[in-house]
Amino acid sequence: MSSLKDASALLHTGQAPDTLLRTVGPPIQKGSTVLLPNAAALYDDRQPTYGRAGLATHQALTEALAALEHANSVALFPSGLAALTGAMLAVLKAGDEVLVTDAVYRPTRRFCDRVLRRYGVGVAYYPPRTSAEDLMALCGPATRLIVMESPGSLTMEMSDAPAIAAAARSRGVLTLMDNTWAAGLYFKPLDHGVDISVQALTKYVGGHSDVLMGSAATANAALAAALDQAILDFGWAVAPEDAYLMLRGLRTLPTRLARHQANALAVAAWLASHPAVGETLYPPLEGAPDHDLWERDFTGAAGLFSFVLDGSDAARKDRFLDALRLFGLGFSWGGFESLAVDCDPQFGVRKTRPHYAGPLIRLSVGLEDPGDLIADLDQALTVSG
Ligand SMILES: *Cc1c(COP(=O)(O)O)cnc(C)c1O
Repeated sequence: MSSLKDASALLHTGQAPDTLLRTVGPPIQKGSTVLLPNAAALYDDRQPTYGRAGLATHQALTEALAALEHANSVALFPSGLAALTGAMLAVLKAGDEVLVTDAVYRPTRRFCDRVLRRYGVGVAYYPPRTSAEDLMALCGPATRLIVMESPGSLTMEMSDAPAIAAAARSRGVLTLMDNTWAAGLYFKPLDHGVDISVQALTKYVGGHSDVLMGSAATANAALAAALDQAILDFGWAVAPEDAYLMLRGLRTLPTRLARHQANALAVAAWLASHPAVGETLYPPLEGAPDHDLWERDFTGAAGLFSFVLDGSDAARKDRFLDALRLFGLGFSWGGFESLAVDCDPQFGVRKTRPHYAGPLIRLSVGLEDPGDLIADLDQALTVSG
């Protein structure tokens, strides 16, 4: 190449190596163009011929996620919400109806109400604790999909997912579960008969509050093909750097979640016995609502739960939140750092507005020392009281 002028040499040197030294993680392979070995390979669809299909980093991540989810196939999306909306678009068509839990993540509801309806898909919301039998009674001839989220957003109701999945399957209705809370680790939806397991990797898999991504996993070949086709048709893609960070997060997911669990159980037990706290909505907690379902189906507890604050003084909620020091005020969850939000402003969109004796506060319990977290809640409850 030494005879090339600068303009050519600078383009044709410094290219990808034919072989790479082995590192522990995959290479962060960046590419829109894939260079093909010969003319016949240009139109051979058995190999990726374009970067949007995902290169080495994506393949390593989907392989690890498939192992986590007990899936045959995992599709990656640019956010958790994109995974939920993408999976729905992959299986629904005009004239279908979808049944969605009333405790669904609010942006998922926004998509159903604004977009699915506009494209001719019927949307109906069912109370989060509806039994499999009652849910089947809500299914009509057009019902194509049931969307579960368990525990539900903010109010933490559990669904009998195995019973709902089995009943739906016998009627030819698909099931999808938003499994972000269990992170694919403490509940395996596909093992329990759910057709599509979706998670916001943004939360526990990323684990550091700095990357957005979502996954949709399935063990069903036809659904895998439908998800792949939706990715192709809509043009969704994720960056290799982000895929690398998600893979790195997976390495420590079990270790981090064990600590989230221990911390959250300690914090929830302490809150449950505090005189300024009403109900504690944390299924893993002995005596909490839906504890039996959690104990039957889940193998561990994530660090996200809600509790009811004393409702006698309406202004106490803001005083409490503003007094917190270790708990940041912010949406999202699953990162190493503890967060708090108040939930009531989000209940207006629900079909059945939940009623508690006071304002509902949601905590994402992070990886700090549990004694420090309890001390922070204690001082905030005291100064706000
Ligand atoms: C955050 C969240 C999502 C969406 O994830 P993004 O990556 O933020 O789009 C979906 N479902 C649940 C339950 C969530 O908490």
